[in-house]
Amino acid sequence: MDLYEYQGKELFAKYGIPVSEGRLALQPDEARAAAEELGGAVVVKAQVLTGGRGKAGGIKLAATPAEADERAAEILGMDIRGHIVRKVWIERASEIEREYYLSIAFDRSAKKPLFMFTTQGGVDIEEVAATHPEALVRLHVDPLVGFQPWHGRRLVYGAGISDPSEQKQVAAIAAKLYEAFIGCEAMLTEINPLIVTPHGEVRALDAKFSVDDNALFRHPDLAEMRDVDATDPLEALAREKGVTYVKLDGEVGVLGNGAGLTMGTVDVVAFVGGRAADFCDLGGGGDAEGVVDALEVITRDPQVRSIFFNIFGGITRCDEVARGILQALERMGIELPIVVRLDGTNADEGRRLLREADASNLHVEETMLEGARRAVELAKAT
Ligand code: GDP
Ligand code: MN
Repeated sequence: MDLYEYQGKELFAKYGIPVSEGRLALQPDEARAAAEELGGAVVVKAQVLTGGRGKAGGIKLAATPAEADERAAEILGMDIRGHIVRKVWIERASEIEREYYLSIAFDRSAKKPLFMFTTQGGVDIEEVAATHPEALVRLHVDPLVGFQPWHGRRLVYGAGISDPSEQKQVAAIAAKLYEAFIGCEAMLTEINPLIVTPHGEVRALDAKFSVDDNALFRHPDLAEMRDVDATDPLEALAREKGVTYVKLDGEVGVLGNGAGLTMGTVDVVAFVGGRAADFCDLGGGGDAEGVVDALEVITRDPQVRSIFFNIFGGITRCDEVARGILQALERMGIELPIVVRLDGTNADEGRRLLREADASNLHVEETMLEGARRAVELAKAT
């Protein structure tokens, strides 16, 4: 789960990382009031779950409360790469002498948190990594040992910071960022830019914070930060029902058992000239309850024109899945064409059950390729 900048900064502040004081605003007049409270020049920042807001015009300076009102009016409602701005963060404007970059990402291949630090911040870090790889300090932390003072020294000396006060501040921020990363079970914590002011003060000017969905049950306070308005309503419904579902843009509703098979099914649908409307993994189950829940989510999508079940029976028995599908159809009364391909354990029995059910919208196919072709054909015909 990705957090908004203002939420990330709230967490930064909680862990003792210096940030600018600010307020959230949903309306221009709230932005004006926030600017009045903060006093002096402020910066109006679009709160969207995507980066590069500055370049897109979503970050603007305002010298007075009246200007803050105007800038907020311009930014609210703006579309930044498909994200509509509904909230702005108003914070006291900072004077910037230098912009650095500091992050911790979970490095899956090393199974360790990975620090990245460079004094060439403010720009895309991918660009720095590509053009000046020597300027980027990369440092793993053994999670069993934790962050040690030498990690901080390695980061600041590695990046060539010579001012002692700056060295101390950056090392302290790195230690706190590590605490925040571990404490929140984050996947990513990124500060870009980490600024140095003309007075030599080091502060986080931006926050990118992504927490591990699978650990959220241990962090009810973080789970509450989820913005239900920003998530796809179908995905929210799926989460509620415990269905593994990702919304896609096509017309063929895809259901498989197992993530690999389901991804393969999405590909095969594309291969035969169609487009999947979703990725839906039934998992090991296939009982009526699970199938009903999945179909309720999939058929709620008005773009869906046909449904393709691709089931490979291993431990899951095809006859059980067939019964689940039939019970689900009986309970839901779906009129969309449904193509079912069953293979593996008890596939013959499963197919027999489906054929005997004699439902006019139910089509049984023998192979994944034939099933995909049929589902695409039927989606185009309806
Ligand atoms: P991003 O574009 O989404 O990464 O948003 P950032 O929060 O990183 O802001 C982008 C850029 O706007 C920063 O790199 C700064 O150059 C500039 N900026 C943001 N806040 C301030 C501020 O308080 N004062 C000044 N002078 N510039 C700012
Ligand atoms: Mn940034």
